[in-house]
Amino acid sequence: MKAEIIAVGSELLTPDSSDTNSLYLTQKLNEAGCDVQLKTIVGDVREDIEEILRQALRRSDLILFSGGLGPTMDDLTRSAVAGALDRPLIKDPGLLEELRRKFASRGFIMSPNNERQAEVILGADILENRMGTAPGMWIEEKDRIVILLPGPPRELQSVFENHALPRILKKSGETRLETRSFFITGMTESELDAQLAPIYTAYPRVRTTILAGTRHISVRLYCWTQQGSGRRDLDELASRFQEKIGPAIFSTQDEPMEEVVGRMLRESRNTLAIAESCTAGMLGMHVTRVPGSSDYFMGGIECYSDAAKIDLCGVPPGLIRQHGAVSAQVAEALAAGVREKLRASIGLSITGIAGPGGGSPEKPVGLVYIGLADGSGTLNRHRIMPGDRESVRERSTYLALSWLRRFLMKNMG
Ligand code: AMP
Ligand code: MG
Repeated sequence: MKAEIIAVGSELLTPDSSDTNSLYLTQKLNEAGCDVQLKTIVGDVREDIEEILRQALRRSDLILFSGGLGPTMDDLTRSAVAGALDRPLIKDPGLLEELRRKFASRGFIMSPNNERQAEVILGADILENRMGTAPGMWIEEKDRIVILLPGPPRELQSVFENHALPRILKKSGETRLETRSFFITGMTESELDAQLAPIYTAYPRVRTTILAGTRHISVRLYCWTQQGSGRRDLDELASRFQEKIGPAIFSTQDEPMEEVVGRMLRESRNTLAIAESCTAGMLGMHVTRVPGSSDYFMGGIECYSDAAKIDLCGVPPGLIRQHGAVSAQVAEALAAGVREKLRASIGLSITGIAGPGGGSPEKPVGLVYIGLADGSGTLNRHRIMPGDRESVRERSTYLALSWLRRFLMKNMG
C-alpha cells in the first residue's frame, strides 16, 4: 500500500518546532508493510489542506493526517477534509456526551468551542482517544483510506496504535518491511561505500542506505518481504557485509559506542583512566553515561593547561617545551601518567587544537592526538578533524572510544 502523511500546523513551518509525528508514523507504517512515499507539512489554511488532500487521493492508497483536530479556530483539518470529500460534518450526540463527561471528570465545564470536537465527517468511524479529547477518524473513500489523528504525540500514538494500526494490518496482508542495521567507525563514508557498493549492487531487491554522522556511519538495509520471501536476500547481504568489514562494525543494534566499549572493558577485566585536554570532560561524560561504569572507570583528569599536564599527569616539562602540548609524545605521556596516577590498567588521553584560534601551518586547527598506555607500553595516533570547535571536540571523543575498542578487540583475541 502506498501511504502518505500530511502534518497540519502552522507552528510546524516555523524554526521552533518540528514534525516528529511523521517519523513515528513512518516507522510503524513501514513495519506494517506500507510504503511511505510522500510527506507534506501544511499550515492551518483551509484551502491548502483541501488542495493537498485532493492531490493525495489521486496518488496514495492510505492518507494520514496529523494535527488540527483541536477546539480552536485554527484547527481546520476536520472541516477541510469534509470539504475535499464533499461530505457534511455532523455533531455526534454520543461524542458530545462523552466530551462533557471528560471535562466534568477533571472539574471543568466544557466551553462551546469544544463542541467542534464532537463533529464527525459523515460516514467516518470514530477512533477513540483515551489520552485526550479530540478523537481520530477513519474514512473510506472509494478504494482510498483517510485517517485523521490528533497532533499531540502521546495522543496520536495512542489512537494510531490502538485503533488505526490493527485495521491497517488487516488491509496490508502479509507484506512487511524488514531492516538490518550496522554501525561503523574507523572508515570514511567513501572508503566504506567503495567496499560495500560492489556487494550491495548485486541485490536490487534490498535498499541500502549509508549515512555519516559525527559519531559513526550507519548502514541500513531495507527489504519488503512476503511470508519470509525476500528475507534470504537480506540475511545473505548482511552476512557478506559482516565478512567484508566485520571489525569496523561496532554494533548492529544502535547502541552507543561507550556501551560497547564498557562491556569489553568489563569482560576483559580492564580498568580505564583518562586524561583530557581539548575535550575537557567530554570523554568522561560519555564513559560514565553507562550504568555500572564504576566497575571499570577509575576517573579522569581535565588537564587543560600545561601546568595541569605536568602537575596532575606527571608529563615531563621538557617534553612539552620540545614537542608542544599537542604532540604524539605528550599524548603518550598523558596516557601513561594518568594510568599510573589513577592505578588503572589502561590510560587513554586526548590532546588537540579545537580552534578556532591556535592553529599553525605545522599544527592546524583540528589536529588531535590520542594516546593509549597499558602495562606493556604506549601508543598514539593522530587525525585532523573537520568542522568547528564543538565538532572537533565531539569527533575526538568518539575517535578515542573507537580506538580503545579496536585496541581491546586485538587484545581480547
Ligand atoms: P493540534 O492538534 O494541531 O492543535 O496540535 C496540538 C499540539 O500537538 C501542537 O501544539 C504540537 O505541540 C503537537 N503537534 C502537532 N503536530 C505535530 C507533529 N506533526 N509532530 C509533533 N508534534 C505535533
Ligand atoms: Mg494545530
